Amino acid sequence: FLDPMGRAKTMTGACVDITDYVRTREALKLADRQKDDFLATLAHELRNPLSPLRTGLHLLQNLKGGLPRQADQVLAIMQRQLDHMVRLVDDLLDVARIQQGKILLRQDPLSLQAVLEQALEGVQALLDAQGLALVWGGVDPALRVMGDPTRLVQVVGNLLNNAAKYTPRGGRVTLRGGEDTQPGMLLIEVADTGIGIPPDMLERVFERFAQVPDHLDHAQGGLGIGLSVVKGLVEMHGGRVAAESAGPGAGSLFRIWLPRAERPEPLEVALPSGR
Ligand code: ADP
Repeated sequence: FLDPMGRAKTMTGACVDITDYVRTREALKLADRQKDDFLATLAHELRNPLSPLRTGLHLLQNLKGGLPRQADQVLAIMQRQLDHMVRLVDDLLDVARIQQGKILLRQDPLSLQAVLEQALEGVQALLDAQGLALVWGGVDPALRVMGDPTRLVQVVGNLLNNAAKYTPRGGRVTLRGGEDTQPGMLLIEVADTGIGIPPDMLERVFERFAQVPDHLDHAQGGLGIGLSVVKGLVEMHGGRVAAESAGPGAGSLFRIWLPRAERPEPLEVALPSGR
């Protein structure tokens, strides 16, 4: 409790002046907000020139009469780098939008199979390039998940992308989906045989800018925000996320729970009148 002088009483009854503490905490909060605003503006300004650059590249690649082979190769490299930059900046924008509550989600009943397959499509080239095997047996086509199609594909794509990034050549990435034991929820799992996550980082990897220090060699230029976007989007859908790993070198397992569509309503049993 504070007295009128801004001092607090400790358990032993001694008085401590905590005005400095309160001031520091307020200053830190303000600095944090200013950092978020700055990141949002930065991401916005960086994103603007990327779309015309993409269009320009596309036009060059489809130039009538074709281009010399060397130019084609250079354009392909530029395209890959540009795509990487677009992903980073889009993640930054999403972090800011989630912070500011500015993301509007659609709530559609979606085929779980379609969502997972679309996410896989986006990452197939990377899996091939990294020499990784994919284990995917499909899911029950009748299962429906409730949510925003673009955002759910982004969430699963992000986990698959990470699995590919953090699994050495020759490894395996597994995608599974199905009903959960918890009624009304569906479970999606992305497992890999990669470098794993130390136990003390399993929860922290979902925090903004958190990266396992030993992984920085494998990161290929990440910012440590992809998983915070995944968590933010999943929670906005009313779901939750969790990571498991038996430790470094033992692979990782990411789980997402999402609400299923067409929840069975409890049966209304009409009792005969007079009883
Ligand atoms: P980044 O851009 O660094 O990959 P993320 O937010 O996607 O950012 O992930 C945060 C950190 O979690 C990564 O830097 C990495 O240390 C760890 N991580 C994420 N996915 C995996 C995975 N499948 N295997 C091992 N470590 C992972």
